[in-house]
Amino acid sequence: MEITDVRVTKLGVELEEPKRTSAGREFDFRPAAIVTVETDEGVTGIGEGYGPNPHVVETVVEEKYRPRLLGEDPRDRERLWDDMLILDTYWDRKGQGVAAASGVDMALWDLAGKYYDEPLYRLLGGDVGGEGSVEAYASDLFWDDPEVMAERAGGYADRGFSAVKAHLGRGLEADERRVEAMTEAIGDAHLMVDVNCGYERADALRVGKMLDRHGVYWYEEPLSPYDVEGHAHLRRKLDTPIATGENEYTKWGFRELFEAGAVDYAMPDAMRCGGITETKKICATAAAFNVTCTPHSYTTGVGLLATLHLLASTPNCEWLEFDVTEFPLLEAVYAEPLEVSDGRVSLPTTPGLGVELTEEVVDEYGIE
Ligand SMILES: [Mg+2]
Repeated sequence: MEITDVRVTKLGVELEEPKRTSAGREFDFRPAAIVTVETDEGVTGIGEGYGPNPHVVETVVEEKYRPRLLGEDPRDRERLWDDMLILDTYWDRKGQGVAAASGVDMALWDLAGKYYDEPLYRLLGGDVGGEGSVEAYASDLFWDDPEVMAERAGGYADRGFSAVKAHLGRGLEADERRVEAMTEAIGDAHLMVDVNCGYERADALRVGKMLDRHGVYWYEEPLSPYDVEGHAHLRRKLDTPIATGENEYTKWGFRELFEAGAVDYAMPDAMRCGGITETKKICATAAAFNVTCTPHSYTTGVGLLATLHLLASTPNCEWLEFDVTEFPLLEAVYAEPLEVSDGRVSLPTTPGLGVELTEEVVDEYGIE
């Protein structure tokens, strides 16, 4: 079997209202880069690379990786990973070059699942929990007035989710008002707090102590991803577990977090950190440091299903990040409807990831 084409389809959705995160940040557009790998045997793979700029992912995939992949056997995933990321004089060690390779790697795994006629989690280690489903948390609850965030959080808990994640990071008092409102609204459910790298060390510690008082489940990206020692410092000072990793790349990058004792919940993003191949290795590296992984996922249904297959098949993984916002590029790419019940998501039965990219979706959401 030979690869005959590798290309990127750029998609995007204008949001009805901007989504607000920490430190005044907000966004009102969600882009996606979907990688398609075609073969001479008619089997096709689909993956997603989140750069996040889809134009950059497209250029890197089509200009840099495509010439190296044409004519190769798509089943040789490890060798092709090295061909993309290891063999250069000037390496893409982090960032959009790795994200672009992640999309190709994911497409190769989807293709393998279809070729071997198995849903992907069966090729990755099978159903670790043995229940045919994984526990999910509701993501994401964006910054808003306390009563609005509380009402939304309560709604997710009422839908059966046993954990809800909220974006804070705009000052101690403002954050605490929202934590109080949300914890009251969700009852016994857990609250995760994500501040998207929004604080410097002193404020991060003050806010972390506030989260300790309210029993928050984890404190995500409190600091710049460059401040590895800062995360380790917070972890020593706080009871609330530290989660981070959506801005880290490859097993070598994550090893620095683990060696520094900087993280309780490692969050590799398979659309960014090196694909499914590398996420499995990051999780194995984490296991050697007794760190739990909770893969990050905030992309289309392609990335969400890849994350679901990874989580189902990897022993030291917990909590599927399940996008509960109004976002049409989730259901629009599922090959079969996703079953969600009592906060658990069932494993797909379709071979590969269980996704498809139809002409209707490209017509409606394709961007130039
Ligand atoms: Mg996050």
